[in-house]
Amino acid sequence: MTSAILPTYARADVAFEKGEGAWLVSRRGERYLDFGAGIAVNSVGHSHPHVVAALVEQAGKLWHTSNLFEIPEGERLAQRLVDATFADRVFFTNSGAEANEGAIKMARRWQHVNGRPERYRILTFEGAFHGRTLATIAAGGQKKYLEGFGPKVEGFDQVPFGDHEAMRAAIGPETAAILVEPIQGEGGIRPVPHQCLRGLRALCDEAGLLLIYDEVQTGVGRTGKLFAHEWAGPEARPDIMTVAKGIGGGFPMGAILCTEEAGSALAPGTHGTTFGGNPLAMAVGNAVLDVVLADGFLEDVRRTGLLLKQRLAALRDRHPDVIEEVRGEGLMIGLRCRVPNGDLVSAMRDQKMIGIAAGDNVVRLLPPLIVRDEETAEALRRLEAACVALEQASAAAPTAAVAGAR
Ligand code: PLP
Repeated sequence: MTSAILPTYARADVAFEKGEGAWLVSRRGERYLDFGAGIAVNSVGHSHPHVVAALVEQAGKLWHTSNLFEIPEGERLAQRLVDATFADRVFFTNSGAEANEGAIKMARRWQHVNGRPERYRILTFEGAFHGRTLATIAAGGQKKYLEGFGPKVEGFDQVPFGDHEAMRAAIGPETAAILVEPIQGEGGIRPVPHQCLRGLRALCDEAGLLLIYDEVQTGVGRTGKLFAHEWAGPEARPDIMTVAKGIGGGFPMGAILCTEEAGSALAPGTHGTTFGGNPLAMAVGNAVLDVVLADGFLEDVRRTGLLLKQRLAALRDRHPDVIEEVRGEGLMIGLRCRVPNGDLVSAMRDQKMIGIAAGDNVVRLLPPLIVRDEETAEALRRLEAACVALEQASAAAPTAAVAGAR
């Protein structure tokens, strides 16, 4: 079928019309177990009654006023985020890339207002993904996203993933900040060791840099802590953190969280957004936070994540020709594959289960955080069937996927 939509995505041949918790129902009436959550977005599952009620209630009252007026729902959400994190201030955005753009501007401007305008460069790790705007593709530094889009935006340097000494060596008189994902998501669920995060904090303190975490994918409970860097303790706290995806549970929104010091760089008039923080988004954000901050919720994510990981480790042992490694934290899990990862994603889809391909030949499992034990057990049954189907296909055609990848 020809489509009027620009073909920037290779879409699977299925459309969904309804979602319930960890399940999606296709237009053909098939039920899919959703372990992709719209790429780590549907944090509290599909159609969560509390979030739906908040959205509907706000939709009947007021959607948008612009940031020229006070927005009490936004004040409340910002205060709750501040109370729950390292941050003193919040700026709301519509997406992860917009949050990262703002964080980059904040870091550069902070150096500028502190008398160091020559410090504008940002250091990142190879394999990073920070979005699709001109600055964020430069920050990610990946050729496949940069190619053909003109000169790379100046001021971004990549160092090998997790290499502390390379990071130290890359700091120069023009460096303003370090920007990293505590666990690389698109890069293939690659956790930065906790020691390394603490080391980055120390490097920033020594050199007068700001430390920025991109928690767009790792945040809002995904790893079993509200934010993933918390696993590394207070010695790893950032100056700035970007959030999106799960914070709106499917409603497009994001945020920049920062310390008073870092945020002081953006005085009135220096940065803005038309839609960011509008009453509708804020009502949804508050409702999502009600769920995620409820007693026992994050403990449950940790417990479910551990259970899932144990079951997946056993699956890997049963199917070593398909799955090489299980890694990640909480409900952000990567299966490094011995077959092409796209083959496993397709085989899972044949079993009516959704997973998402990532770099480093990984399939990501990112279920809604409300996923129940019986659903993780069902996920394992479907994954097992997918592995068996791939093995049988390879036995029938020995040059195919499994044997070929060995
Ligand atoms: N940062 C990270 C770590 C991401 O995973 C993503 C999206 O996948 C982004 C930024 C970009 O977010 P958005 O697509 O909302 O602009």
